[in-house]
Amino acid sequence: MREAFDVVVVGKGNAALCAALAARDQGASVAMLEAASEKEGGGNSRFAGGVMRFAYQSVDDLKRVTDLTDAEVAGSDFGTNSTDEFFDDLFRLSSFRSDPVLTEMLVTQSLDIMVWLRSKGVRFVPNFGRQSALVNGKRKFFGRLPIEASGGGAGLVQSLDKAACAVGVKVFYSTRAKRLIQDGDRVIGVHASAGGKPVEFRAKAVVLACGGFEANPEMRARYLGPGWELAKVRGTRFNQGDGIKMALDIGAAPYGNWSGCHATGWERNAPEFGDVNVGDQFQKHSYIFGILVNANGKRFVDEGADFHSFTYAKYGGEVLKQPGQFAWQVFDSKVTKLLRSEYRIRMMTKVSANTLEDLAPKLEGVDPKAFLETVRAFNAAVRADVPFEHTIKDGRGTVGIDPPKSNWAQALDTPPFDAYATTCGITFTFGGLRIDPSNGQVLDVTLAPIPGLFCAGEMVGGLFYFNYPSGTGLVSGALFGRLAGTGAAGPAAQTSQSRYAGA
Ligand SMILES: Cc1cc2nc3c(=O)[nH]c(=O)nc-3n(C[C@H](O)[C@H](O)[C@H](O)COP(=O)(O)OP(=O)(O)OC[C@H]3O[C@@H](n4cnc5c(N)ncnc54)[C@H](O)[C@@H]3O)c2cc1C
Repeated sequence: MREAFDVVVVGKGNAALCAALAARDQGASVAMLEAASEKEGGGNSRFAGGVMRFAYQSVDDLKRVTDLTDAEVAGSDFGTNSTDEFFDDLFRLSSFRSDPVLTEMLVTQSLDIMVWLRSKGVRFVPNFGRQSALVNGKRKFFGRLPIEASGGGAGLVQSLDKAACAVGVKVFYSTRAKRLIQDGDRVIGVHASAGGKPVEFRAKAVVLACGGFEANPEMRARYLGPGWELAKVRGTRFNQGDGIKMALDIGAAPYGNWSGCHATGWERNAPEFGDVNVGDQFQKHSYIFGILVNANGKRFVDEGADFHSFTYAKYGGEVLKQPGQFAWQVFDSKVTKLLRSEYRIRMMTKVSANTLEDLAPKLEGVDPKAFLETVRAFNAAVRADVPFEHTIKDGRGTVGIDPPKSNWAQALDTPPFDAYATTCGITFTFGGLRIDPSNGQVLDVTLAPIPGLFCAGEMVGGLFYFNYPSGTGLVSGALFGRLAGTGAAGPAAQTSQSRYAGA
C-alpha cells in the first residue's frame, strides 16, 4: 500500500502536533504516523504535568498567555523569568554545554511559542497548586514557572489534536515508522508497519518527532551506561529510539549529551512504563523538605541544593547508583502540609511511625542502625539559628556533615514520621540529532543538511546536558516542532543549499 502527502510527521506528541499544524499553516497536506493506538497515543507529552517554562518580564507577558483576573493579579507575586534568568538557568544546569544557538532560540522565542500555542486552542492557567504559596496574604510563585497547560500534558495534546483534526491533518494510528526512503540523498518518504502490514508513505519532506530511546533498555544500557536498563519508564513505552536509529542509518549527525538523560525519583513499585491514569503522580518531588537515605542508611545527595525544579531531573540518576537502585524519602510532621499532591495518591509505598526507632525497621532494605545514626548526625548538624522559609532558598543548611543539606534543613523530631520508597524513573534521553537552527533540517555527519529530513522534540540534540530545568521539554518541543513543520513545508525542504551557521 502507498500513501502520498506533502509532509509526513512521525509521532503524535506535542512536537509532532506542532510540526503538523505549522506545516498545514503553510498549505501542505500532512499525515501523522503514530506507533501507538488512538487510546495510547500522544507520547510522553500526554503523561506530562504540563508546567511550561518560558521567559516573561512582567504580568503583561503572562496576560498574553492566559486570562488573569484583576483579583488574581492584585493578589499574586508572579516573579519574573527574564531572558537573562532563563539563559542563566539553562547554562548553569548544563555546565555551559548547551548549544548557544539553540538555547538562544529557546529563550528568546519561548514567549512567542506560548502565544502561538494559545492561538491553536491550548488553554493555560496559573499553577497555583504546585508552584505557589501564601506569604503575607499574597500568592507568591517560586521556581520561575507560574503557568501550566489546563488539564496538564493530556489537556495540551487534546487541544492540539483538536486543532490538527480541524485543519485536516490525517492521522494513521498503530503505524510504526521503520525506515526512511531516499532518492539519492533526498528523503522522499517512510516505510512503516500498520497493524502488521507494510505501508509506504511518500512525501516531499519527513519530520521525525518520535521521541528518544528512554523506553528501550538495550539502548539505555548502551548509551547511558550499565544499570540504566533497570530504570522504570515514566512515560510512553513507544519511544524506542526508532527515529534516531532511522536517521543515523542514513548518515545523520548525532548531537548532544548521549550518555545523559532526565530521570527523577519515582515510586519504587511503579509499573515498568507510565500509566496515563496516574500521569506524573508516581514522582516524589518534595524531597527538598526531608532526607533521602539508601540501603546503607546513608544520605547521598544535598536534598536542599536548590528548588526541586533545578535538581529533580538529575537526582533520579543518583538514586539509580545506590545499592538496590532505591532510596527512601523521610519526613517529619512539620512538613506534611508542604508535600505536593503526589504524596497523597493511593498507589505508593509509604510507611509511618511515631518514633524514629519504630520507623527504622519499616524501611525495607535499609540498615536500621545506620539509618538512626544518620538521622542523629543530621539533626545535630541543622543550623537552627536560620529561619525556615520554603518559598525562597532560605540558607538554613547543615554544618559538618557530608553531603550537606544547603537549604530547608530541619531536624526530624516531630512525629509522626513518614517515609516513601522511590527508585529511578527515566523521563527522556538528552542525546539526539543535529539540526540546522534556521529551519529544523537534520544535518549529516559532515554538517550538510539532509534534503527532505527534519526533526523536533526530544529528538533534537544539543539542548540539555547533565540536568534540566523543569517545564522546558514542552516549550522546546513546540518551538522546534513549529520550526521543523514550517521548514518541511517550505522551499528549504526541496534544496540542500543551507548550511549550519556554525559549521
Ligand atoms: C511523567 C512525565 C511528566 C512530565 N512533565 C513535564 C512538564 O510538566 N513540563 C514539560 O515541559 N515537560 C514534561 N515532561 C517532558 C515532556 O513530556 C517531553 O519533553 C515531551 O513530551 C516530548 O515531546 P515529544 O513530542 O518530543 O515526544 P513524545 O510526546 O514522547 O511523542 C513521541 C511520539 O512518537 C511516537 N513514536 C515513537 N516511535 C514511533 C515510530 N517508530 N513510528 C511512529 N510513531 C512513533 C510515540 O508513540 C509518541 O506519540 C514530562 C514527561 C513525563 C514522562
